[in-house]
Amino acid sequence: MKQFFNLIFLFFFVIQTAFGQQAAEHIRILASPEFHGRGYYKNGDRKAAEYIRKQFINYGLQPINGSYFQPFTFPVNTFPGKMKVVAGNTLLSPGRDFIVSPSCPGIKGTFELAYLTSIDQVFESNSLNSKFLVVDKSAFPDSLSTKIDSIIKSPPSCKGLIILEPKKLTWSVSGKVNERAVIRILTASWPQKTTTITLNIQNKLISEYHSQNVMGMIPGTTNKDSFIVFTAHYDHLGRMGKEALFAGANDNASGTSMILELAKFYAQPQNRPAKSLLFIAFAGEEAGLIGSKYYTQQPPLPLGNIRFLLNLDLMGNGEEGMMVVNGEIHPEEFALLEKINSEKQLLPVIGKRGKAANSDHYWFSEKGVPAFFFYTTGGSKAYHDIDDLPGVIRLAEFEDVQTLIKEFVQQTGQ
Ligand SMILES: [Zn+2]
Repeated sequence: MKQFFNLIFLFFFVIQTAFGQQAAEHIRILASPEFHGRGYYKNGDRKAAEYIRKQFINYGLQPINGSYFQPFTFPVNTFPGKMKVVAGNTLLSPGRDFIVSPSCPGIKGTFELAYLTSIDQVFESNSLNSKFLVVDKSAFPDSLSTKIDSIIKSPPSCKGLIILEPKKLTWSVSGKVNERAVIRILTASWPQKTTTITLNIQNKLISEYHSQNVMGMIPGTTNKDSFIVFTAHYDHLGRMGKEALFAGANDNASGTSMILELAKFYAQPQNRPAKSLLFIAFAGEEAGLIGSKYYTQQPPLPLGNIRFLLNLDLMGNGEEGMMVVNGEIHPEEFALLEKINSEKQLLPVIGKRGKAANSDHYWFSEKGVPAFFFYTTGGSKAYHDIDDLPGVIRLAEFEDVQTLIKEFVQQTGQ
């Protein structure tokens, strides 16, 4: 008898491990160097889109109006070439020691430095024209932080800015190029009293970058015109030069992996629900929620048919629980989430917030589509940096979030 129980245990262990491994495998692949951070270096986002489409086809999802892709274009500033910063004689490592501002222009040469020593400092006119102004935020008390930020925003006329960051470097994406170069450098990586900086930074503004949302559908068994929609953005920041890879394992290979897992589950005949299901992997989120905005402007299926939308971003951790954006706006559905969570003892806590324009659910909410945005909290603090790698993701509540979603789908009324 004991052997029988051991076998049962082994059976469930194998099932569970295989399940977890597949999610982890999607994340490992999407966040691998071959996908170039799913951004604007060597068409990394296109590679990710092809990968997602392939999974949708394998699972048996249907295309929308004959296609799994919804193409669109937008402007993006990219960094496909040189990314060299030498402070005095010290060569700094891209991503690790410094980031350039997402709207940084290309720049080459050696420049003298001037330091900001007080917030009332007066520079003689034109004295900084060929120099970089160094702003060391950690040299000023926190109470002056707003003032320092406004100096950074509109500095005296200068060639460029060096901003020393005491804590961490957080990168993003821009669709424009500024006149002035701005470089953020970790305070700990900055050689004290450096007087010059040597730069070779190459940018390329692509005014019409071609990207695409990826979509797939599972028709409902009885109520085909009512849709539950699962969304996750698959794009991330790409690369800053050849070296610095922003892999985006948590943000958002994790959420992408989760909608793939859900698609695979629901595509099996025995799991097909009464309502139809639509899966959308959005592009251009990090560039300003562009893919989801485009989708809501040109919806291939009527937005009015969406019974509820669940947007998943940052699904990699969850040791501390999960936050629900729009939880305060849809109290009935939030109460359902809480009920399921306590009955099944899933996540340690589910928090709620009001509306926020912080991910792809936003444009849908603005058009009156009922939507939640789920993001998990806890674990690694890596975010929009080169440390957001598959290794820092523990998938602590990954299965629990899926269980919660499946129950939510089942119990949400027509
Ligand atoms: Zn994200």
